[in-house]
Amino acid sequence: MIYPVKVFCPNGKLKKIISSKVITNRTWRSLKCTTASFKEPTLKEIKLKEIEDKKDKIKCIFCPKYFKARYLTSKVCKSARCKQKHYRKFGAVPKEAKICPTCSAHFYATPSRKFCNNPCKFRSKSKRKK
Ligand SMILES: [Zn+2]
Ligand SMILES: [Zn+2]
Repeated sequence: MIYPVKVFCPNGKLKKIISSKVITNRTWRSLKCTTASFKEPTLKEIKLKEIEDKKDKIKCIFCPKYFKARYLTSKVCKSARCKQKHYRKFGAVPKEAKICPTCSAHFYATPSRKFCNNPCKFRSKSKRKK
């Protein structure tokens, strides 16, 4: 006795039912061949493919070129000119007014910098006033 075979889509929907009559009409050998060669992509595979496709045609924000990017969030193509423009626009960390904890000098620096560097440097405890 051969039972009907249900074929499902990757999203879980029932695609078709192969009736037992159809199955018995096929030889087991040919059925095995078709099921082995026909593989539906999984949802994950479809998603990955979509991302790869999108990454292939990201438009550079500085030139009219479409480029293949490593990340979906990439915005500029690989040309040196566009990279430099991007760095000037987004790469520079805004500086802020600071007071050196060692010598109390006022200076402008990126948020990660704590010392004036003139002459106090990070961890240069020897130069601290007593
Ligand atoms: Zn570009
Ligand atoms: Zn200082």
